[in-house]
Amino acid sequence: MSVRVRFAPSPTGLLHVGNIRIALVNYLFAKKNGGKFILRIDDTDLERSTKEFENELFRDLEWLGIKADELYRQSDNHAPYSSAMDRLKKIGRVYACYETKEELSLKRKIQTSSGNSPVYDRAALRLSPEAKEKLEQEGLKPHWRFRLNDEDCMEWNDLLHGKISIPLNTVSDPILMKPDGSFVYTFASVVDDVNMGITHVIRGDDHVTNTAVQMDIFSALSGEMPNFAHIPLLSSADGEELSKRTGASLSISCMRDSGVDPGAILNVLATLGTANNVNHRDKLEDLVEHFSFEKMSLSAPKFNLEDVKTLTKKIISEKTFGEVKGELQELNLENISEEFWDAIKENLSSVKESAFWHHILFNEINMLKEDENFVKQMLQTLTSPLNFDEWISSLKQVSARKGRDLFHPIRIVLTGLEDGPELRRIVNLLGYERLKERIKRNLESAR
Ligand code: GLU
Repeated sequence: MSVRVRFAPSPTGLLHVGNIRIALVNYLFAKKNGGKFILRIDDTDLERSTKEFENELFRDLEWLGIKADELYRQSDNHAPYSSAMDRLKKIGRVYACYETKEELSLKRKIQTSSGNSPVYDRAALRLSPEAKEKLEQEGLKPHWRFRLNDEDCMEWNDLLHGKISIPLNTVSDPILMKPDGSFVYTFASVVDDVNMGITHVIRGDDHVTNTAVQMDIFSALSGEMPNFAHIPLLSSADGEELSKRTGASLSISCMRDSGVDPGAILNVLATLGTANNVNHRDKLEDLVEHFSFEKMSLSAPKFNLEDVKTLTKKIISEKTFGEVKGELQELNLENISEEFWDAIKENLSSVKESAFWHHILFNEINMLKEDENFVKQMLQTLTSPLNFDEWISSLKQVSARKGRDLFHPIRIVLTGLEDGPELRRIVNLLGYERLKERIKRNLESAR
């Protein structure tokens, strides 16, 4: 049977690195096994799901190069959910409940304060037909709960954790349909997984209890049971769990705007908490090659944005002019050339930062005061046509300086900065006329 996995985000916020790690593990597993990677938009929660978040999610995945083989939306799937619900009604596995949110919350509080776990007490199962009719006449619409097989203990062989077992009497009967007739994710997801022929459900550790519940729903619907893998959730560098709220600065769109390289994100996420080493040259195909559940650790790995930034620098420093030309053109810079790119590429944290070096090389710089005598010597020794080695060697002679004493002031005069691209490249890019002009201006205006 060929592998079919799904990444099922809810468009209720921006995707963060934790979500993408789940997407990536699904993708890598599918491709490693010659299977299909399906994108399913879990938008049953109509109040919280938005088209904006959905569009943003498509943009994120496209930018990262994670391509889906098939795409579905739960909001398009009402009919199969309805017919699956009818089947559950027919076999008596769902029951109508009339408690309000407030009543349920009070029940839970009483249970917890008396030391019991807040499992739903199935009061609605004991309602007589007359009592139900009365409630309906009063205008109350029921929500529907699935009656868990509470004598059962759900057991599965998790691809990552090995054997997991959860007794169903420790869990509340889940609500599958709301009073307004809309379906809850817990249920919609099972119906979709069955209909889409999902073979492996790979998701975060936070879904372990859901899995036990959903396995019971799979059985009730006589659906083919998929395999399960639960991935430890990422935490931030300071140990906090990532969520749609706390992870905002680690959202993919925020990272994209900051100029981080998508390959750096993929590399860090694919190797985090695994036995694999990061290699900035690895492409998605290489990450597929290295992937295996056996190499993944069970503890929650920490995500550090600095790792992505460091890798981004390395990746950018190896990009050719051809690879970045389009991005540079988008910055509307004049005089863009291969020589310019080769001069600056090792000094960039993002391609966008090229604009800064463009400004330094072709526009204004800060004129910083240097030893006037030395600056005069810079001018005296400058000859046309410009030859870097000859210029430096005569300046060395005339000034009797060497090493940092010689090079550092040249850099300061030419760029107004302490560090930057290799001096030889700067000099060649500036050219004789601009070089002369900068040195002269330094003599006149530096303070
Ligand atoms: N929409 C669910 C979530 O975002 C998907 C969980 C699953 O993979 O089943 O948590």
